[in-house]
Formats: sequence, C-alpha cells, structure tokens
Amino acid sequence: MPNLSKSRFVSGAQCEKKLFFDVNRKDLKPPVSTQKQALFDAGHAIGFLAQQMFQGGLDATSEMNGNWSLAIDRTKSWIQKGQQTIYEAAFSIPSGFAALDILHNQNGERWAIEVKSSTSVKEYHLNDAAFQYFVMNNAGFNPDRFFLMHINKQYVRNGNIDVQNLFHLEEITQQVLERQSWVSATHQRLVQMLVNGSEPQVAIGKHCSDPFSCDYQHHCWKHLPDNNVFNLYSPSGKDWQLYGAGVLAIDDIPVEFPLNHRQQLQVEGAKFQQSYFDKQAINEFVSQFIAPLHFFDFETVNPVLPVLDGTRPFQQIPFQYSLHVSDINGNIQDHFEFLPDPSAFKIGLSMEEDPRYQLIQQLKSNIAQTGSIVAYNASFEIGRLKDLAASFPQEEAFLQSLIDRFVDLLIPFKKAWFYLPEMGGSASIKSVLPAIDPQFSYADLKVNNGGDASSIYLAGINGMFQEEWTSTREALLRYCKRDSEGMVVVYRALKGLY
Ligand code: SF4
Repeated sequence: MPNLSKSRFVSGAQCEKKLFFDVNRKDLKPPVSTQKQALFDAGHAIGFLAQQMFQGGLDATSEMNGNWSLAIDRTKSWIQKGQQTIYEAAFSIPSGFAALDILHNQNGERWAIEVKSSTSVKEYHLNDAAFQYFVMNNAGFNPDRFFLMHINKQYVRNGNIDVQNLFHLEEITQQVLERQSWVSATHQRLVQMLVNGSEPQVAIGKHCSDPFSCDYQHHCWKHLPDNNVFNLYSPSGKDWQLYGAGVLAIDDIPVEFPLNHRQQLQVEGAKFQQSYFDKQAINEFVSQFIAPLHFFDFETVNPVLPVLDGTRPFQQIPFQYSLHVSDINGNIQDHFEFLPDPSAFKIGLSMEEDPRYQLIQQLKSNIAQTGSIVAYNASFEIGRLKDLAASFPQEEAFLQSLIDRFVDLLIPFKKAWFYLPEMGGSASIKSVLPAIDPQFSYADLKVNNGGDASSIYLAGINGMFQEEWTSTREALLRYCKRDSEGMVVVYRALKGLY
C-alpha cells in the first residue's frame, strides 16, 4: 500500500502525474536550485525559531536517522504520558503519514500548529493543514484546534529576534474541517492511482504553475517549439486560448487573431524577422537625458528573518551597486561599485557601521550633483532609495535629490518603441541586451541572475557560504557590472550610436 506523506499529497492534489513522477520517475527531477535551497534553509530556520513560542517541548525526530516509525512511536507514547509540547509530532494511518511542526496541550485542548515562512495564510496552506488533520484524526489523535503560525510583516527587528512579535498565530480549525471530505476523496484517488501503477494521462494546463511551478515542465512541455505561444508578451489568457485551438508556434498564430501592438510586433518578428523602431518616441525619450549619465543598478536581499536592526521581514535591503558614468553619447568615463563583506550585516551596529549608511556615503562621492540617473525598471531602485531615506532621515534630502533625477530605460521596450525579433516576448534587460549585442549575454557569468545573487549573498550573511568569499565576490561584481554596463549599450542603441 503506498504511503502518502503531506508533501506527496500536496503534489498529487496539484497534479496526479506530478505525484506519479515524484514516486516513480526520480530521474526526471531536476537538481535543487540555489534559490530553492535558500528557501528550504530559511524554512528550517523559521521552524526552529517558532519552537521558542512553545518552549520546553520534546522533538520526536531527534536522533531518529530517518526512522519515522521511531518518531511515530515516540509521539504516541509522549501524548499518552501527557507531554505538553511535542515538536515534529508524527502520525500515520495505513496509507498516509504526517509530521506536525508543533503539537501543544493548552488547558486540556490539543492544539495542532503548523509554521509557515509567509506573511499570510494561503489556500494551499489550508489544504496542507487539512491533510495533517485527516491523518491525525484517523490515527486517533484529532486536534481540538488547528493554527497556522506565520510571519508578522509589521515586525521590526531591534536586537535579538522577538519571537512573540515575529510570529502571528491564526486559527484555521473551521477551514480545515470544511476540507475533510475533499481530503478523504483526494487521498483515496491518489492512493488508487499509485496502486494502479500506470502514468496518468494529464494534459498541461494552468495547474502546471498553480500553486507551485512544477519541476516536470521540462518533460511535459517538451512538445512545444522553442518560440511558442506561451512566450507571447503579457498574454492575459491568449496563450491558453491559442494552445486550446491547436496553435503551438508563435509564427502559426492566424492573422485574424486579436493581438495588441507589442504582441503583433513579436509575431511579425518571428515570421519575417522584422524589427520595429518608433524613431519619434525614441528621440523624445532620449532627449530628456542630462549628462553626465549615471547608469545605476542595485542588488538586494529580502530575508524572512531581518538581518539588520530597524528592518522588517522580507524587506528588500540593498547590499551592492554598480554605477557606470558616461557622457551624453554613452562613452564610459568611470565605473564605481559597492559590495561589502557579508559579515558587515549584523545586529547591534551604530549608524556609521550600518552597511546601508556606508552605501549612502559612497553614493555621495560616486554620483555627481547633476546629470540623469538611469535604471532599468527604475521603480525598484527608487523604492530602495525611499526605504533608505526612511531608515536614515538625516539623508532624506540627498536621497530624494537622486530619486528626482531617475529615468527608466525599460520604457522604450515596455511600450514597444524599439523591438528586435531576438527579444522574443520579454522586455527584461536579460532579453533586450543580448538582442542588441550578443556579446553581452549573461551566459558567460558564474552568477547570472538577481535571484541567485541575492541567495548567495544572504547565505554569506548567515555564515553558510558554499564557496570562499574572494571568488564569490568577483562573480557578484561581474554580474552587477554587466547590468549597469549593459544599460550603457542599450542607451547607445536607442541613440543610434551602437
Ligand atoms: S508539468 Fe504539468 S502536467 Fe506535467 S506533471 Fe507537472 S503539473 Fe502535471
């Protein structure tokens, strides 16, 4: 009889075929990415911290070395002996298994508590919890009340983490009870599918990314051509409409199919290798730039557990910038960068020691008092400067003077004033830059996206670097430099100078 754990139940509830692959086709599972590993690590840290809300418990999984039957026996015996709090309490039924973060006895009531490192209760959390309740109930240990403990996004760190304020306990007993008949039917269906042993026939659909992006898309979606309808720019449902009508390739989209201007350019680009330039709009756009030009890019971390005093969970904190300075024709005159050792991010710092304050001081010497500041998707950089102004009010006037000078290089691509077929369905600089100059792809870089840069640096802050700092630092500097230098290349293309 197959034994469904909570994670397998959740997998199967999203898609039966996904569960089948989890169990029978481990060869299809891609390796865990840097960003996913960082999420797992953060989840473990949060789970451990949450135990402080209910202190003095016993951990059913300690020293069990993968022996879940030991954890199940311990849980049963500790409950019978009246143990008030049990961490990782484990329960089983003939074809199901669940471990609960915290089981707590509160004034004679049995509380089940599941910890989540998100800032609100999501629909899939309720389904998770409903499965745990189902297993506990059928194992003879039904909880009186069920809670999710999630992160309070208003919490501001000041010194050691204050767990009472970091976490928010939200009761979900009613929602869990309402889902029991659904859990029972789904559990039965999934177990039966695994007993049958044949791969379920499930077509691709919106469930492939809801609630989670499925690991097996590389397999199930491989019948699609490279340039397919799911690459359509901002599709708003047109991708599934076309796919449902049997249209797979972008260049097979019928002429009568309604598309907006940007999507039309993409289809014509795919069919006829046609580029598009709205010269008047581009000229008006570049005419607002004032020399010297400052091409500016931040990298940030947004840790669930704040790493500096005065910051909130998931707050975006800049740790790095790259700045290229050029004349009005995009001739580079200077390059500046900021990237402190990750050990600089810790609690108990004076204002002068705070790496964000040092970043502001360096900006003062790197950015001239006049001239445009250019960013790609400038609202992100502006948002971080506003956060810095809120944390360092004495610097507000300087930071606001920077904000007032920003120009967003994304606009000509978002508004489709400049289009090359190689850009496909994306206006991101990762697509625009190599389309303009293939030498500036990101493929040669060891760190080649912002998510990885963030995860790697955060691992450094948390003392969990996989590699030594000198080479990691070099890789981070190269990545951020590519973004700001890339903006100069893009700007020169807009000016017709590239
Ligand atoms: S890619 Fe889609 S169809 Fe394939 S297993 Fe995943 S969710 Fe199911």
